[in-house]
Amino acid sequence: MRIEVDKIKEEEIELTEDIKAENWDLSSFDVKFVGNIHLCCRISRIGKEIVVNAEVTSVREIVCSRCLTQANQTVKQDFKLFLNVNDLGNFLDVDEALREEVLLNFPMKVLCSPDCKGLCAVCKANLNTDKCKCK
Ligand SMILES: [Zn+2]
Ligand SMILES: [Zn+2]
Repeated sequence: MRIEVDKIKEEEIELTEDIKAENWDLSSFDVKFVGNIHLCCRISRIGKEIVVNAEVTSVREIVCSRCLTQANQTVKQDFKLFLNVNDLGNFLDVDEALREEVLLNFPMKVLCSPDCKGLCAVCKANLNTDKCKCK
């Protein structure tokens, strides 16, 4: 996503772009980014400062660390970037900054849902879907 700095004015501009997930190379052993990463940026300028309100939507194939099931998740994240025009050249390119934000906000623990009940430690039954038979 590239935009000429001179074109950024006080009034917000909205830009959207789809980036192939593999181009951002974010996947880890238990999270795989699939399809496109959708960027939607609202960009405006106040004095020497450029404000970027970005919404990044990604689809992730995860393996839940509690119940070990595979799940697909669509994750929407909002980021706000502040940039000084003096630090920029003629163009503003926010892709790398947004990629870094996604990396910094990578989940410490990957779960299929926040209230995943996990597996029974004894019989390994998936407590989200099965009844544990141990007593
Ligand atoms: Zn789970
Ligand atoms: Zn059990």
